[in-house]
Amino acid sequence: MAVTIEFLSEAEKKQIAQAIAEAEAHTSGEIRVYVEPKCKGDEKERAIKVFHQLKMHRTMFHTGVLIYIAHNDHAFAIIGDRGIHEKVPDNYWEEVKEMMKNYFTEGKFAEGIIKAVTQCGEHLKIHFPSDGNNPDELSNEVVIGNG
Ligand code: CA
Repeated sequence: MAVTIEFLSEAEKKQIAQAIAEAEAHTSGEIRVYVEPKCKGDEKERAIKVFHQLKMHRTMFHTGVLIYIAHNDHAFAIIGDRGIHEKVPDNYWEEVKEMMKNYFTEGKFAEGIIKAVTQCGEHLKIHFPSDGNNPDELSNEVVIGNG
């Protein structure tokens, strides 16, 4: 019987969900992480598709941010909803993406994702601070795809 090696362990998935909860505590933004082995085609287009599949465009202030990872292909994208694009330039997340890539190159996958989540939270906090009424609009669980 073939043994499937999971890219992230259950414990690591929990740590990432926890990092998302902490990052979202100070911002009205909503962060999600989507991981799959392969990315057919352009990673940014794929990320936009996933963004809609996960209904991330339905947050109250359009402040959803998706961290998309195709780990076998080393393809990454970070995209934000239109509420975010109105306030920040397109390359706003490049720095976070590059940092995450460096961790991945060293084989530190969970750590890289957690750092990326934390940095996204820091960025979101600047433009979209929590006003106290801050419902958790999107699940914090990592989504595992089969692309
Ligand atoms: Ca959330």
